[in-house]
Amino acid sequence: MNTHGEDTILEILQSAVLTIFGGTGDLAYRKLYPALYSLYKKDQLKEDFAVIGTARREWDDAYLREVVIDSIGDAKISDEHVEKFASHFYYQSHNVNDVENYDTLNELIDKLENKYQTCGNRIFYLSVSPSLFGTIARNLKLQHLENERGFTRLVIEKPFGNDYESSKKLNDEIMEHFEEEQIYRVDHYLEKDWIQAIIPFRFSNPVIESLWNHNMIDFINIKVNETLGIGERGVYFDETGALRDMFQNHILQLISLLLMKRPSVLSSSAISEAKVEALQQLQTYTVENIDNHFIRGQYKAGSNNKDAVDYRQEPNVSANSMTETYVAGKLLSNDNNWSGVPVYFTTGKYLTKKVTHVDIHFKEDKDSIFDEQTANKLSILIDPEQTIELVLNGKKAEYTLDPAPLSFQPTEPSKSAGDYEKLMYHVFSGNRTHFVHWNELEVSWKFVDHILENWEKADSPLHFYEVNTTGPEATNELFN
Ligand code: NAD
Repeated sequence: MNTHGEDTILEILQSAVLTIFGGTGDLAYRKLYPALYSLYKKDQLKEDFAVIGTARREWDDAYLREVVIDSIGDAKISDEHVEKFASHFYYQSHNVNDVENYDTLNELIDKLENKYQTCGNRIFYLSVSPSLFGTIARNLKLQHLENERGFTRLVIEKPFGNDYESSKKLNDEIMEHFEEEQIYRVDHYLEKDWIQAIIPFRFSNPVIESLWNHNMIDFINIKVNETLGIGERGVYFDETGALRDMFQNHILQLISLLLMKRPSVLSSSAISEAKVEALQQLQTYTVENIDNHFIRGQYKAGSNNKDAVDYRQEPNVSANSMTETYVAGKLLSNDNNWSGVPVYFTTGKYLTKKVTHVDIHFKEDKDSIFDEQTANKLSILIDPEQTIELVLNGKKAEYTLDPAPLSFQPTEPSKSAGDYEKLMYHVFSGNRTHFVHWNELEVSWKFVDHILENWEKADSPLHFYEVNTTGPEATNELFN
């Protein structure tokens, strides 16, 4: 364990003063305050913590506390309980560009450290536009907001850049003042139960580990599909597209967890190293063959949803936009363990079913003594269902030995805490396993930039699909 108390996978919540930049924002209201209350309700967050909300608005403690209580709504145990929780909240009007505001903030943190006995532990949650991340990091350091008695952790919301260059620039700005071990880059998908379960499922079950290779696995299929369009997010989405918005982070993270080798030890850094190695092994493609591996699509109005419009008619979207709302891909790895095993994925807006899941298809038995049998399959259901399902073969009927599929699921599907509740838990306990290391971001952004460049150079087609269908027909050709 280092001096900041990180890299342990011990799950012990530590007392701290948490400062949220963007305390008046949507994310704080919808996710961060309710997440903290869930931990408090479960008695995981005790009384030795304080939260400072900061933003430009001229709020005061009393008003922030009202907002916090409102954000919790019916989840409260009682009025008294939620008021006691809210009494831990303080507000400071703060412009992140004004260095003097950091001195006032430091004084407030000092005062709260004494009041709540938080041992100098400080967490700064940057829930603001990425353009402010560098400024905040610099001012926190130069205005001496670290207390050497305890740890200082910086939680950084996404998006972390728009390509390799911009993410590196952002990272350089932050790392000029903070160590990698202090930085918690958020990808809330990594807090989903069955994404987190991949590591114990693969590496604590010898029976599974022995199957996890090209001898046994035929192909992997990942779906991260949504049923809605881009809504009000036109400005952001038209600049971003599905490849950056979903593939660069969530899907590449999933792929790295599925393909990585067993980490040398169970620590955040060893897991991250194994993930980076898996990402580095992914094959890259050229102008000549990019279309055989990645296709892009865009939704248009259709009969399945009378309210939907063409993507190009959405508010704040360019009338001749080439931005993809759908991507399908077929990836291969250079790792011998994965020789010849394609990893297929789809992700898109306005598809038929909202689902995040992974199917591991096992090879069929070429020497089978049966005429027909179902191929074995393991499904990792991440969202909205959260469980696993294993398809094996049993027996069809009383008088024959014909195989019939048997499907196994845990009888008790896991009861999950919310993504942001777990995220807060991991920040307070110093567990960086479910956050994104810079080395992972570096490889994944380079991989994504390469696809985008080659699509551009190859003038790859944009495949249109009608809303609330299964996506462009070109996907079938790609996957066959
Ligand atoms: P928001 O626009 O609702 O809030 C932004 C906050 O930043 C406000 O509190 C505002 O006062 C503050 N702010 C802006 N300029 C400031 C300045 N100069 N000094 C001090 N404070 C300033 O945004 P949001 O939706 O809460 O998102 C915050 C971050 O979280 C963004 O990076 C966003 O991409 C990310 N994020 C948001 C969501 C979500 O569901 N809202 C989901 C994932 C990631």
